[in-house]
Amino acid sequence: MRTFEYRLRPTKAQEQALMRTLLASRKMYNACLEDLITHYKETGKYLHLYEQDKHHGKEAHPDLPAVLVDTTLKRLHRSFTNFFRGLKEGRKIGFPRFKGATAWNTIQFRDAANCLDNGRFKAPLQCGGRMRVIVHRPLEGTFKFARIVLRPSGWYLQCVCETPPHPLLKKENAVGLDMGIRYLVADSNGHIIDNPKHARKTAKRLAHAQRNLARCKKGSHRRKKAKKKVARLHEHIANQRKDTLHKASRSYVDGYQTIAVEDLQVSNMVRNHCLAFVIADASWGMFRQYLEAKAESAGRQVIAVRPHYTSQTCSQCGESVEKSLSVRTHVCPFCGYIADRDENAARNILQRGLQVLARTGPSSSRREGPEQSGESPSVLKREAAGL
Ligand SMILES: [Zn+2]
Repeated sequence: MRTFEYRLRPTKAQEQALMRTLLASRKMYNACLEDLITHYKETGKYLHLYEQDKHHGKEAHPDLPAVLVDTTLKRLHRSFTNFFRGLKEGRKIGFPRFKGATAWNTIQFRDAANCLDNGRFKAPLQCGGRMRVIVHRPLEGTFKFARIVLRPSGWYLQCVCETPPHPLLKKENAVGLDMGIRYLVADSNGHIIDNPKHARKTAKRLAHAQRNLARCKKGSHRRKKAKKKVARLHEHIANQRKDTLHKASRSYVDGYQTIAVEDLQVSNMVRNHCLAFVIADASWGMFRQYLEAKAESAGRQVIAVRPHYTSQTCSQCGESVEKSLSVRTHVCPFCGYIADRDENAARNILQRGLQVLARTGPSSSRREGPEQSGESPSVLKREAAGL
């Protein structure tokens, strides 16, 4: 599955129609969530999707197209399914929330009835009908369904397509990757992919815009404008990050048959208010996702290994060499091996990956046994706090 994203160019009237459906579907979502909660309080039972669906016919929602009534209900019940699964597996997944205006920005369609057609998107009449799309690149594969997303910079159309795999020529090499805060990625061959410089520049502009926002009077017109600017900068930073991560993951998948990464449980990390950390936190999970998706399509493999002590172990002799965070070079007193701290860590990750591979044989993607999952190395947390 791949998602192709295009800019939408709705007319004024279409934009209003989109806004109306967005608002109506959010109201419906919240009302249905409330129904579920009261039903549970009264009967002690979960109100099933098809039971609830009976009360949401065409008459109940004259302001929404039938597709949206359907997908909105399904979204609600999926969030409950996830919540219950989390309970069962002992993972922390929050109880489904009531959606505020900022947490609801997607209009989801169901099937190929709403699709791209000759430079226009066939939206239901109540969502504005056929609207202009800037098709900057062709769709690939079989079209499945579409979404319309509202972002600070405007409206976007996402087309989800099923694409055939693009296998690459098999190689005989492997690489280990260490994700950090100072760099985005350091690999076992000593190459480093730095955090993009322009992202640092945008972060500065963001800080400025946020100060500006804080000075504006509440409820004022200027505050509204300042708020919009902050939101757009956040979006811009996210786009820059995605771009870098896509390019980095592409270059590793193209260059190596086996890629070993740390198995960081990103969602378990302690919340931290430092911006550099928040960005890095989001990047690690995303990078791994991109790597795995690209590797699967290319016939390459990603191995996730236990992240503990990768920076404290000597990759040459295996002895433990303790060092504080400020020490950037690994100097082994046992065998004399000298390397950059992150390169040493990446080499350890590679070795663990190859060990896993030797034990289990090749396959597309895997992670090391269940006993190692859990918190991420505290080193990363400390590193973040120090920045
Ligand atoms: Zn050593």
